[in-house]
Amino acid sequence: MNRDRTCMECGKPLKGRVDKKFCNSECRSTYNNHLNRNTNNLMRKVNRILRKNRRVLAELNPSGKTKVHKRQLQQKKFDFSYFTNVYRTKNGNVYYFCYDQGYLPLEKDFYALVERQDYVY
Ligand SMILES: [Zn+2]
Repeated sequence: MNRDRTCMECGKPLKGRVDKKFCNSECRSTYNNHLNRNTNNLMRKVNRILRKNRRVLAELNPSGKTKVHKRQLQQKKFDFSYFTNVYRTKNGNVYYFCYDQGYLPLEKDFYALVERQDYVY
């Protein structure tokens, strides 16, 4: 909570109700707009990375099933930190997906690239 009792937007001391967070509705909406803008920017950024990752996988995997070296993904600026979902097979293999394009880490920095199969969802 706002322990020092100042407006969360402009920082002016607050008077009145203890649960008040803003001096007026203008400060409230300014604050919320900034909050939404930051969230939207973050989501846009993440969506861009995911789409880019998906494109890289699709480009390297025109046949729907192939094997590539990590270097090939890195050259295309693939970002391993972002994926849309994970699929674990019965024998413990973990596929990482960016939408319909997925990869499975293999030995020695190789990756199997796959296209989404119906069993994924
Ligand atoms: Zn204020």
